[in-house]
Amino acid sequence: MKALLLDQHETLSASIRDIDTSQLPDGDVIVDIHWSTLNYKDALAITGKGKIIRQFPMVPGIDFAGVVHHSEDPRFHIGQHVLLTGWGVGETYWGGLAEQARVSGEWLTPLPQALSSRQAMIIGTAGFTAMLCVMALEQGGVTPESGDIAVTGASGGVGSTAITLLSQLGYSVVAISSRPDNRDYLLSLGAKDILPVSDFNQPSRPLEKQRWTGVIDTVGGTVLATLLAQVQYNGTVAACGMASDIHLPATVMPFILRNIRLQGVESVTVPSAKRPAIWQRLQKLLPDSFYQQAGSEIALDQVIEHANKLIKNQIIGRTVVKVS
Ligand code: NDP
Repeated sequence: MKALLLDQHETLSASIRDIDTSQLPDGDVIVDIHWSTLNYKDALAITGKGKIIRQFPMVPGIDFAGVVHHSEDPRFHIGQHVLLTGWGVGETYWGGLAEQARVSGEWLTPLPQALSSRQAMIIGTAGFTAMLCVMALEQGGVTPESGDIAVTGASGGVGSTAITLLSQLGYSVVAISSRPDNRDYLLSLGAKDILPVSDFNQPSRPLEKQRWTGVIDTVGGTVLATLLAQVQYNGTVAACGMASDIHLPATVMPFILRNIRLQGVESVTVPSAKRPAIWQRLQKLLPDSFYQQAGSEIALDQVIEHANKLIKNQIIGRTVVKVS
């Protein structure tokens, strides 16, 4: 089978190789992969910009969709369409940037009926995480009537999907982006306004004018700290990413004087039983236009070049990889 293989001796190497399928790791289901994607974490792994992989050789790719080729798990039969996001696949276990993967059946989700494999991967880990962020705002009591929602890293995979989901749910969304050229794209997804990230990446006062009833943050750092200082009384912030910085130079003031909530969002180990309903919701909410606007397609042998572009912030929306 063809796979992107990462290896590390003195330096990291990444190349497309022919691998004997007998080398696939243990697992009870083998999936013929049709589509995988390029997420921020994949780009960190493939370029070596982040310590994502600790055990080499490794096939990266934290998500995939395809068809069951062989199954020892009674929940899955040969020919069934499935998808996978998270569970350490592409980090600890060989991942989706290959023609086949052998995984635990526990990690697979049946493909929702009204979704194609390609659409599922345009959503991918990023879109699944965006849905979790929206649900975190809902759990915090944020409603479409309660005010504006800010979404950072707006042109990226999580940001683009979050804007679309929020807009479809009737929320008023303000996109925060470092790329003014993407204005029309962000408006087309449903943002009502776009603000430059430069308005938010300078140190802020502990409390600023109250502007947001909710925030979905994918970048961390000073931007997140500034937004926390601007959240309205009782507001909720869902933080899932660190595209700018892993640090959070904030004060406790917005928490103790404005009763705000900071909810972390983690997509990797969401229990299997909860996943089908989240995917059903994504399928119902995302309009057909989303897949055209936010999805672009590359081949497996273009992944390395595109991973470098993603790290340099030269990619818009989601990138799906046609594997076979
Ligand atoms: P993308 O690369 O697709 O998007 C990231 C976006 O962030 C870019 O498009 C850009 O938007 C903005 N950005 C990039 N670099 C910077 C910077 N230095 N300063 C400020 N903004 C920046 O990544 P994803 O959307 O897939 O992921 C976003 C984050 O969420 C990542 O940190 C990723 O690791 C994390 N993540 C976490 C998950 C979880 O389970 N917690 C799951 C999935 C992702 P613009 O050009 O509009 O400014």
